Amino acid sequence: MIYNEKNIKHKHMKTLNDFNFENKKALIRVDFNVPLNDKFEVTDATRIVSAKPTIIKILEDGGSCILMSHLGRPKGVQDQFSLRHIVNKVEDILGVEIKFVDECVGEKAETAAANLKPGEILLLENLRFHKEEEAGDKGFSEQLSKLGDIYVNDAFGTAHRAHASTTIVAEFFPKNKCFGYLLAQEIESIEKVLKTGEKPVLAVLGGAKVSSKITIIENILDKVDHLIIGGGMSFTFIKAQGGKIGNSICEDDKQELALDILKQAKAKNVQVHIPVDVVAADKFSNDANTQIVDIDKIPDGWEGVDAGPKSIAIFHDIVMESKTILWNGPLGVFEMEKFAKGTIELGNSIAEATKNGAFSLVGGGDSVAAVKQFGFEDKVSYVSTGGGAMLESLEGKTLPGIAAILE
Ligand code: AMP
Repeated sequence: MIYNEKNIKHKHMKTLNDFNFENKKALIRVDFNVPLNDKFEVTDATRIVSAKPTIIKILEDGGSCILMSHLGRPKGVQDQFSLRHIVNKVEDILGVEIKFVDECVGEKAETAAANLKPGEILLLENLRFHKEEEAGDKGFSEQLSKLGDIYVNDAFGTAHRAHASTTIVAEFFPKNKCFGYLLAQEIESIEKVLKTGEKPVLAVLGGAKVSSKITIIENILDKVDHLIIGGGMSFTFIKAQGGKIGNSICEDDKQELALDILKQAKAKNVQVHIPVDVVAADKFSNDANTQIVDIDKIPDGWEGVDAGPKSIAIFHDIVMESKTILWNGPLGVFEMEKFAKGTIELGNSIAEATKNGAFSLVGGGDSVAAVKQFGFEDKVSYVSTGGGAMLESLEGKTLPGIAAILE
């Protein structure tokens, strides 16, 4: 919905700045679905850190925060998925004492919420301990809505789900609902790429499969000037054009589609760039023998696992020319050190372009992992916090959690 002007024409995107939270209780859907180790310690607190500006703004206004989230995929109530495990980490990050209640609806939760004073924070127990959460149950949503005066959605990671706490609960706050800073920033970043971005606009799509990116490609062909197709995906295009790809990963049943995409791109004046050379390996392993070959002349028994030097140089020039850059998916098997160069070099180019004033958005799955692993996080304009939500946004889909606030 957010990219379809017809849908949002007369809708004002309400954010935290439209409200004064003094003496108000904000019911905030955050995404605290963080990874825990076997000692129940948080191993990556990015999502908690990302929610901090929203929480602090509300506290500084003189309001209080009731935080609700899911954690993992519990089957009923399972202690290992209790949000109490993260209380200390949230306290450390926010610098404020956290009150925790081991329920998210009902009398206990309502009493804890009612007793909350301005400046205080209450963390509710895992929403998914109730199956009604994922079912988007109306009664459960209504119970949640009793806890706060203003509903704030700041969980981009679950905005593509029509769950009780992400979407349905908004119905009970017809006027008093808004986006948190994080979610607003995610929306703005995607809009900058798909709608308002300065030209030339470049999308780099990599990763393993054409099939998982096809809807994205079709949606963005109308919005970009350049499209780089890299990684495992590129071999389906090369084979479809008659190239020899050896043992490289390929989706034979998507060859027609690949040719059709190239045709559509041409008709839409989008310049498509596919690697011209690759690092070919004789096995899928870090100790493989490798050679640089043309991408359409990969010998039998060898497979393309990374972009070659000529491709890296060509991609660098395209990135440097671009004013708006979207990056989704690695250019090679970056998890293996030997095959990470193409992805690292692309990251370097995007970092340099960003330094020169381009807007760069990295989002959706493995490119985020790569950006973090190789230290580019602070060198690009924005790294999305949502995997599936980002992919669905790029596909041009309506995200129910966003639509519910815009209504
Ligand atoms: P995706 O989740 O679709 O973005 O795919 C990411 C995965 O694609 C990563 O795990 C990469 O290792 C993999 N990948 C990238 N390039 C290749 C390639 N040439 N051959 C096999 N896998 C690849």
